[in-house]
Amino acid sequence: MNNALNPNPENKPGKTPVTVIGLGNMGSALAATLLANGHPTTVWNRSAAKAKPLVDQGAHLAATPEEAVAASPLILACVLDHDALHAVLDPHSGSLAGKDLVNLTSGSPEQADEAAAWAGPLGLGYLDGAVMTTPPGVGNPEMMFLYSGSAEVFERSRAALAVLGDPLYLGPEPGRASLYDVALLGLMWSAFTGWLHGTALVGADATKATDFTPVAVRWMTHAVAGFIGTYASQVDAGHYPGDDATVDVQIASIGHLIHAAADRGVDNALPELLKATMERASAAGHGSDSYASVIEVIRV
Ligand code: NAP
Repeated sequence: MNNALNPNPENKPGKTPVTVIGLGNMGSALAATLLANGHPTTVWNRSAAKAKPLVDQGAHLAATPEEAVAASPLILACVLDHDALHAVLDPHSGSLAGKDLVNLTSGSPEQADEAAAWAGPLGLGYLDGAVMTTPPGVGNPEMMFLYSGSAEVFERSRAALAVLGDPLYLGPEPGRASLYDVALLGLMWSAFTGWLHGTALVGADATKATDFTPVAVRWMTHAVAGFIGTYASQVDAGHYPGDDATVDVQIASIGHLIHAAADRGVDNALPELLKATMERASAAGHGSDSYASVIEVIRV
C-alpha cells in the first residue's frame, strides 16, 4: 500500500479512512481509538501542537481543514460547540460534497436540526451524535454513543463508529441524539447530587464516602433501576397505581431525610425541592398514586 495514503503502517485493509476534526480531550481520544483499531486516521486541530501524540501513533496531520476533509470519506467533528464547527468548516463548504460528517460536538436539538439543514444543500451527509462517556471510556463497548439523522450515513459509518463504543441509532430526526443527551445528563446530575447529599449526610456521622458508595450503587442498580422500569409503563399508560408506595407516603418519608440533614448541618435545597414537587402532585390529586404520577406536574 502507498504510505502516502496509509500513513500508519499498522492500518488494516478494509478499514474506513476517517478524519477527526478537533483534538481536545474528546477528539484526541476518538482519534487514538480509531488508530488503535487500524483505521487510517487524518487529524486537524486549530492548535496543531495537540496533534503531536496522535502523529506519533500514526495519524496523518492535515495542514488545513480542507486537506483534512479531502483525506477521508468519513469526517468526525468534535469541537467545543456548533459555532466552532462552523468556524472550521464554513470557509471550506465547497469541498464537503459527497462526504459524510458525524458531528460529535455537543449542542441543542435545534442546533442539530440546523446543522442537518446546512449540510443538505452542500451534498454533505449528516449524522448527529452524542458521546455518553468521558475520554477514558472511548473504545469501551459498554459505553453508548447516540446517533440520529441520516440512516444512510449511520449504515455507512457503523463499523468505524462501533470501535468508539456501542452505537445506538435513534432515528432520522437529527436532534434526537442531542435531546437524549441532555435528558441523560439531567438524570446524571440529579443522581450525582442525590449521591453527594447522601454522602454528606452519612459523612456527618463519620462514614467515609468509599464505605457508603457501594451500598448506594447497589441501591441504584438493583432497586431504583427496577422501580423506574415499572414506572415507565405507568407513565406511558397515564395510569399510576399506588400499590407499591404512594406519593403521600413518600412525602412523609422525605421529611425524615430533611430532619436528619438539618440536624447535621447538611444543605437541604435538593430534598426541599423534591418534597415541594411531590406536594404539588399530591395537591393535584395524586397523593394515593405511585411516584410516577409526579410527571403530571413536571410536564406542562
Ligand atoms: P476541549 O478539550 O476543550 O476541546 C475543545 C476543542 O474545540 C479543541 O480542539 C479546540 O481547539 C476546539 N475549538 C474550540 N473553539 C474553536 C474554534 N473557535 N475554532 C476551532 N476549534 C475550536 O473539549 P472536549 O472535552 O474535547 O469536548 C469537545 C466536545 O465534546 C464538546 O462539545 C463536549 O461537550 C463534547 N463532549 C465531551 C466530553 C468529555 O468528557 N470531555 C463528553 C461528551 C461530550 P484548540 O485545541 O485549538 O483550542
